[in-house]
Amino acid sequence: MAIREVREIGDEILTKQCKDVTKMTLRTRVLIEDMLDTMYERFGVGLAAPQVGVLKKIVVIDVGEGPIVLINPEIIETSGEQTGEEGCLSVPGKWGIVTRPDHVKVRALNEEMEEFEMEGEGLLARAFCHEIDHLSGNLYVNLVEDGLHDVNYEEDEE
Ligand code: ZN
Repeated sequence: MAIREVREIGDEILTKQCKDVTKMTLRTRVLIEDMLDTMYERFGVGLAAPQVGVLKKIVVIDVGEGPIVLINPEIIETSGEQTGEEGCLSVPGKWGIVTRPDHVKVRALNEEMEEFEMEGEGLLARAFCHEIDHLSGNLYVNLVEDGLHDVNYEEDEE
């Protein structure tokens, strides 16, 4: 287990299309463990493989209900709408307002390469959309409605 360097906006790898995972290998298992460690270390709610420099369709998410690992995920259903704040470990110190569906159903493989479906609402639905966007090279900064804002760290410390 290890913390990996998080690539930041401007790094070309964040704009590239990721490839399907075709089989589970030790290397991929280690990658997933490292992605979880890196996400928790940086207090993120999600992390996609290209953010640690690997162009594979792997996403990890934890919105406070335990870790979720999605391999080759696809969004198969959406409904509703939510507008709220979004940030990204690859765009440090910034946030923006993004509108996303409020209910999202995904189909993916787990670490045993077994297919499953999962539904999320609110923050989890937002995380599904944000992280899966990373796999096709899309960052939330292209979706913000009112530009990017600076995180006010001083306010957080009060
Ligand atoms: Zn992100």
